[in-house]
This record gives sequence, C-alpha cells and structure tokens, in this order.
Amino acid sequence: MIINVLKLLNDETLNYEFRLFQDDLKGYGDDYEGKLDENGALVKGSIKKLGATEFLMKFTLTGVIVYPCARCLTPTPVSSVFEFEDTIETDPGTETIDMVPYVEECLFINEPFKVLCDEDCKGLCPSCGANLNQEQCSCGDESDIDPRMEALKKLL
Ligand SMILES: [Zn+2]
Ligand SMILES: [Zn+2]
Repeated sequence: MIINVLKLLNDETLNYEFRLFQDDLKGYGDDYEGKLDENGALVKGSIKKLGATEFLMKFTLTGVIVYPCARCLTPTPVSSVFEFEDTIETDPGTETIDMVPYVEECLFINEPFKVLCDEDCKGLCPSCGANLNQEQCSCGDESDIDPRMEALKKLL
C-alpha cells in the first residue's frame, strides 16, 4: 500500500483505510512467527505532515494472526487489535510512503510473548516429538532412552 504525500500541506492530515495480506508483507516472517490469516489485516489511520520531511503516522491494525502454539506448535489464531503511532522522517522531496514496513513493524513490536492453543496444552514429547494432545506415545518414564535403542528393544 503506497500513500501519496506529495500534495500534503504542513499540518494537513490524510486518512486511509486498506487491507493487507500476508503475501504483501515481504520482509515479514523471518524473525517473526505470526502470519495473517486469509482475511488479512485491516489498517485504518492517518498521516499528518509535520514539516518538510517529517510525518506523524497513526493507525489501528485489526485482524486474525496465526501463531504457533509455544508448546505444541499447532497454528493458533489470535484476534488482534494493535495501535501504531510514530513520527517518521523522509528524504526531502519524497512523493510516496510505502506503508508495508510500518505495518510489519507494528506486527513485530506487538508480537505476544507466548501463545498457547489451550491453557492445558500438553505440548510435544521431548523424546519422540509426538503431539501429546492427540496421542499418548510410549516414551513414558523412559523418556531419556535413545529412540534407536527403543526400536532395538522392541526387536528383542
Ligand atoms: Zn499447544
Ligand atoms: Zn514420546
């Protein structure tokens, strides 16, 4: 999403509203685990020209972001409403501002510390990696046995 600020006068505010999708977020996802769901995110806000190369950017981002569960990695949707406000500097004579880096920054700084699919999520077995919410693996008390040894034991 590109905003044209060429004709914006000092102290003038431009309002915008657009929807961004996961595929629009090119630099996003490398050091970040969340992904926008198929409906994307609604970004609604304003940009105010403060001076020749200075703007005040404000928006609210609303959407469902899917994070991996911190224990079992199951994709877990989280309804999210994030506020963003920052003063940005541009090069003199800048005609347009690309909103994508600001949306990415907003998603990044608001990333929840820990998302769980369920408060009682049992997580993954540290030995065999089985999702303990879905199956009961046979590691049990012998969880520190090498899985290769376990396979051998079954043959005996
Ligand atoms: Zn989980
Ligand atoms: Zn196991």
